[in-house]
Amino acid sequence: MTAVLLRGAAPAPGRSVDLLLDGGQVSVAAPPRDVEEVHLGGRPTLPGLADHHLHLMALAASWDSVDCSPAALASNGGLAPTLRAARRRRPHGWLRAVGYDVAASGELDRRGLDDIGVGPVRVQDRTGIRWMLDSFGLRAVLPPDGRTWPDGVERDAAGQATGVLVRLDAWLGGRVPRSAPDLDAVSRWLADRGVTSVTDAGARNGPDELTTLAAAGLCQRLTVMTAAAGVTAPRGVELGPVKVLLDDDDLPGLGALRARIEEAHRSGRAVAVHCVTETQLVLALAAGVDRRDRIEHASLVPADVLPLLVASDPTVVVQPGLVPPRGDRYLAETDPRDHPSLHRLRSLLGAGLRVAASSDAPYGPADPWVGIAAAVERRTSSGSVLGADEALTPAEALGLFLGAASDPGRRRALRPGAAADVVVLDDDWDALGSSPRVWATFVGGRRVAGPDPGGRRDTAADARGRR
Ligand SMILES: [Zn+2]
Repeated sequence: MTAVLLRGAAPAPGRSVDLLLDGGQVSVAAPPRDVEEVHLGGRPTLPGLADHHLHLMALAASWDSVDCSPAALASNGGLAPTLRAARRRRPHGWLRAVGYDVAASGELDRRGLDDIGVGPVRVQDRTGIRWMLDSFGLRAVLPPDGRTWPDGVERDAAGQATGVLVRLDAWLGGRVPRSAPDLDAVSRWLADRGVTSVTDAGARNGPDELTTLAAAGLCQRLTVMTAAAGVTAPRGVELGPVKVLLDDDDLPGLGALRARIEEAHRSGRAVAVHCVTETQLVLALAAGVDRRDRIEHASLVPADVLPLLVASDPTVVVQPGLVPPRGDRYLAETDPRDHPSLHRLRSLLGAGLRVAASSDAPYGPADPWVGIAAAVERRTSSGSVLGADEALTPAEALGLFLGAASDPGRRRALRPGAAADVVVLDDDWDALGSSPRVWATFVGGRRVAGPDPGGRRDTAADARGRR
């Protein structure tokens, strides 16, 4: 691979340096003779962005799906017209719809979907917890004998399936035809936004998922959390923490959770515990989450739990990008006394915790710059502000996306010897908090997005349409 010399790179406002990317690293050696020079003209030049928690397969699948979020339904005239239009584009087979919000758009079951008449169709609730199927779809996936149905198949008073399937995502996935999700498109789209490292947080990841993700040949560095501690990573994949998903309706006992954490630690793995409620957070801390580990989301951290979190000292991986799409609901549905506890940022940093950010895509917006802007503005989609005291400066918000994949709370910098993961912005420093344009992205010194005589520009522009 040819070395690249970035001339006139600005690692900070008002500074200009030449940055040599050679052998996969930032180098201070004299440039080799066959170096490719790229003139940046003082463009802001940063370490590549890391998304420390997202769901790559679900994100790719969501792009192959009908968007039924409240915003999409509003602009397409409601659920029935949206699904019927999708059926015209895809005349055969299953329709897969995502982002449906029961609270905003109404309860949905087999009957409601039958009335629309586009089956077989499956509609995922915005949380990813429920699927809602029409009668065609139900007949295709449910065994005829109701006694063999798994828990989670909701039944009406007569014992008939209502069409609602709760926490049966994997079960359902094994019963519908598989179409390979386009992970390459996801990877290129993220590269166009300066993302050079991703951590897949799938709670069910095992050998199959590791193989699929490794084979996808993403242009980002790839870290994968897994369900079990005792797995080996294929080439090209770093093992992340053991992912522990908690569900308030089905919480493990303290002893069982403690054993799971200890098993991970004995295998040299950290745990990453999903904590979106106070109960989940308190349970995780009581079960022995410590400085090696991660708390994912920390969506609700009451003031009296914050000192417990600090005492355990895990890295906290947050999703500021959820404030615009979900903030209005939080403000409407949670006790006003809890509002200061929601999606904390500044108070976590102020308490000395190591904090990193992520998208949780497709459950939150995949674009890291949307997350950065949200961390600065804290604005909900209707324009209210959620927790103004928790807002960060653009540089602080950016810093949350600059962690090392193996230790998200540790910030990377473009120092000699560091990995040559670089993003060059095509905007001024003052655009950091408002979705700046990305000019080029390098992973290990290899250009994965940006101006290139090889003609990558077209595909990059294509993918941008998905923003
Ligand atoms: Zn997640």
